[in-house]
Amino acid sequence: MWKVWLYKVEKMICLGIESTAHTFGVGITDGRKCLANRKLMYRAKGGIHPREAAQYMTDNAHLVLKEAIEEADISMDDIGLFAFAQGPGLGPCLRVGAAIARVLSLRYKKPIVGVNHCIAHVEVGKWDGKLKDPLVVYVSGANTQILGLAKKRYRIYGETLDIGLGNAIDVFAREFGVPMPGGPWLEKTAKKGKRYIELPYTVKGMDLAFSGLLTAAKKLARKKNRYDLCYSFQETLFGMLVEVSERALAHTKKREVLLVGGVAQNKRLNNMFNEMCRFHNAKFFVSKPEYNADNGFMIALTGLKMFKAGVRQKDLHINQKWRTDEVEVIW
Ligand code: AMP
Ligand code: MG
Repeated sequence: MWKVWLYKVEKMICLGIESTAHTFGVGITDGRKCLANRKLMYRAKGGIHPREAAQYMTDNAHLVLKEAIEEADISMDDIGLFAFAQGPGLGPCLRVGAAIARVLSLRYKKPIVGVNHCIAHVEVGKWDGKLKDPLVVYVSGANTQILGLAKKRYRIYGETLDIGLGNAIDVFAREFGVPMPGGPWLEKTAKKGKRYIELPYTVKGMDLAFSGLLTAAKKLARKKNRYDLCYSFQETLFGMLVEVSERALAHTKKREVLLVGGVAQNKRLNNMFNEMCRFHNAKFFVSKPEYNADNGFMIALTGLKMFKAGVRQKDLHINQKWRTDEVEVIW
């Protein structure tokens, strides 16, 4: 009997739901391939309004789910496990994904797992780059963390003390009337800058603080040349991040560096990391945009890994402030 069960787990297909912030995503995997990865993104005029984003997800979830099932070319009965992003994230948005996953699990009588969103970013990057034990630099809208696996936990070697790196970029871009996401605009505008303008550079030990830099840059928005200011703002932000990452790499002696999260799309940041990694003889990897941005596939992939390793959770409540280093990595 247990052999039949083991066989079933080995062949299991997992459907994962992402809904931590702006993206409602549904991904499907058998643990080896990405069978489907569909999503819709709530577009905010200013910052994300959590209740509006949650309403958008509630209104559109069924469409994304249907598309994912069609893309994978399977039926709901083929799904053996449901996974959802349990945190960290915005409460109202997390609740939408959690409720849908719970209903599906009850309706199709299949188990359910709650996945840490940050760890899902790490796992999908490792899967995509076939990496073993990277130092992970996770830079998204809300999060900025330098992570590495040690004694069954993703330890945080350095992190932001205030806002996320992407958030700093988006708020700065808004000063120029650019809607979210501001990152691609900053990258393009910064390319035309020539002269470096002195800005606050705040590295505290292994941690980073962006709000002082952001305030100073915003104050200069109408006074300085836009291209020079964008260039200086980007260089300062990334310089701080690379400094702390380099120290973490030297300390951990890891041989691989993985850059994940929305800000990882930035070519200038990639070049800086490439150079730093070359200097330390470490392999540098950044995932494809479809796996790097928030998506359901990373939740499905991580949920399936967890379940196969024996993770069974009693508490499936959402956890808005779930820290990466609270999760025991037994897989
Ligand atoms: P995430 O929270 O992982 O979905 O990432 C979204 C964040 O990535 C937003 O703050 C974007 O502004 C930022 N982002 C996206 N593309 C770029 C880019 N090319 N350069 C810098 N930041 C970017
Ligand atoms: Mg994310």
